Amino acid sequence: MAKLTYPKYTNLCGWNAMLPARQARAALTGDLTVDYAVVGAGYTGFAVARRIQELDPQARIAVLEATTVGEGSSARNSGFTGAHLLPRNATVEMAEKARVQGRFYAEAFDWLMSIVRDNGIECDIRHAGSIRAAATELGEASLRKVVEVARVNDIAHSVLSRDDIRSRIGSSYYRFGIHMEDSVLLQPAALIRGLADALPSSVSLYENTPVTAIRRQDGWVLETPGGVVTCKRMALATNGFIPRFGYLKSRMATIYTYAAVTEEIPEARLGEIGESDAWGLLPSHRLGTTLRRIGRNRVMVRSLYAHETEIDQKQATAALRARFNRRWPDLADIRFEYLWGGTTAFTMNGAPWWGQLDDGLYASGGCNGSGIAKGTMLGRHLGELMLGHGGTHDALARSIGRASWIAPEPLRTIGFHLVSAFESRKAGMEM
Ligand SMILES: Cc1cc2nc3c(=O)[nH]c(=O)nc-3n(C[C@H](O)[C@H](O)[C@H](O)COP(=O)(O)OP(=O)(O)OC[C@H]3O[C@@H](n4cnc5c(N)ncnc54)[C@H](O)[C@@H]3O)c2cc1C
Repeated sequence: MAKLTYPKYTNLCGWNAMLPARQARAALTGDLTVDYAVVGAGYTGFAVARRIQELDPQARIAVLEATTVGEGSSARNSGFTGAHLLPRNATVEMAEKARVQGRFYAEAFDWLMSIVRDNGIECDIRHAGSIRAAATELGEASLRKVVEVARVNDIAHSVLSRDDIRSRIGSSYYRFGIHMEDSVLLQPAALIRGLADALPSSVSLYENTPVTAIRRQDGWVLETPGGVVTCKRMALATNGFIPRFGYLKSRMATIYTYAAVTEEIPEARLGEIGESDAWGLLPSHRLGTTLRRIGRNRVMVRSLYAHETEIDQKQATAALRARFNRRWPDLADIRFEYLWGGTTAFTMNGAPWWGQLDDGLYASGGCNGSGIAKGTMLGRHLGELMLGHGGTHDALARSIGRASWIAPEPLRTIGFHLVSAFESRKAGMEM
């Protein structure tokens, strides 16, 4: 098998840079034999490892991470999470399905929060809820359907007018919104770093340890630059990078998306970013822009998508700048202090792929823009599946669906560009 590629980002993760420096765990040097190997130290990988350890405390488990914890996408995201992950395109016809999914998300979210509490992980959790907002007529129509589902499923929410949104975020850009009361906002790099520190002692974490090839040999053998890992069972928890191992190539692709954080906005101008100390806003269209007020005096902007490779940094900066300026023209002189890209896995129907790929080989990917709770949920179930525990896996699989087929290259790239041109036109000012 050819040596596979793993994430190497152009810029450091801004969330990680805003925290004190962290000492990474040592890379693997020498060969290692374990019962279970997990590739990828993100929400999914940590959930797999922790669940296996909970159910089989004697098991020897190794987690192998190509970069360092705090530099992967689990830290590069926008930090929105919660127990109620209603899809952006939810309609009342999907309410029952959303209710079943909601039970699984809530179970995973509660589990994650109990780990946070029990281990004293400080990740700046704000129970601020999240705003879903629309700047266009089309966006408003789609959000009104989400309001219906929230009402039918009894999910705590309130409807926001343009003035309501303006008073919260200081911008009159949006015409309609819904405030999801139960969502939480957190510092993702602090959370994933905390989860690494909280790993039980029977789980060994190796950072700066990319897995460069895997092969079957009386179990599985994983090659890394510093040594070989031999195990009975292994999990690929590498999200958009699973296809680089030669699996699920026709199910998912790597997608890059970008975020920027402003410098600290002077005290006298804080009124321009609204009355709430902490807020988060999600777009009504999938190509839209996510916004957050963080650390009281900064704003984060997340937008843009690129297929398989990073886009030029100047282009990313200019695009994010334009989105920020459209919303806060009076803050156009405020600089971006951080800008970074991160990856998710694109799947055609938005559903993840989760389960067994081969004898002793398991994978979970495609948790997309909700990976904090969804990656945790899928990783937890994958850990149970790897141990042969029965339970609710079939119900979970039925409720979340399965990533559908995607055309191979070169059709895929052509398709990506066509769909993104079409969707960008549709998204319009939601971007
Ligand atoms: C800018 C941005 C904003 C987002 N906003 C949100 C949000 O607000 N809320 C939310 O819930 N989700 C959000 N997401 C999505 C979320 O970050 C992902 O769904 C989540 O990170 C998936 O977790 P994971 O553990 O499955 O994969 P990852 O976090 O990608 O972890 C996989 C790990 O595998 C490692 N890896 C890959 N290949 C190899 C290899 N060969 N050897 C060893 N290690 C390897 C990677 O370095 C990585 O650390 C966002 C994503 C981005 C990029």
